[in-house]
Amino acid sequence: MKPFILVLFCLSMQMCSQVKQPVKSNAIKNSSSMENSSSKKENPYYSRTDRTKLNVPNSEWKKILDPEVYAVAREADTERPGTGKYNQFDELGEYYCVVCGNHLFRSDSKFSSTCGWPSFFEADKEGVSYKRDSTYGMERTEVLCKRCDSHLGHVFNDGPPPTGTRFCMNSVSLDFQPDAKTAEK
Ligand SMILES: [Zn+2]
Repeated sequence: MKPFILVLFCLSMQMCSQVKQPVKSNAIKNSSSMENSSSKKENPYYSRTDRTKLNVPNSEWKKILDPEVYAVAREADTERPGTGKYNQFDELGEYYCVVCGNHLFRSDSKFSSTCGWPSFFEADKEGVSYKRDSTYGMERTEVLCKRCDSHLGHVFNDGPPPTGTRFCMNSVSLDFQPDAKTAEK
């Protein structure tokens, strides 16, 4: 897939260079209105269906992601406990990687944990990968998005049945999509 990514990269470079050319005033208007649209639309790597591995340098992510997301997802920062928007949250739906859109968790596997971060007892096996983390004098297992290698959190073996696993995640790294509302009975 690397040549494909290279082509995309070249295309985006070309588009950038075109923007720098003198343009008519209505074109400028269009480009500024695009900048005001949601950040997801400006992220060309975001997809909830494409699971192709991404190899995007942090210099590129820094231009695309919000500073808060970049700090957690790309520099393994941790949001303060109890502050994340999905910590006390029990809606039904799917959780995706906020950086690339890869599917990570289903709300069925979320459980109420007192640790201060959203916790799951099971992850999408195609969604996450693991890495040994020996920082801060601790032996932990870091959880990463399998598609874009963004930091999600850590995994511990003190979770509830049926798995006994606790995925301790940063809300900042997650993107939630509620289930489509079914017709009221
Ligand atoms: Zn990702």
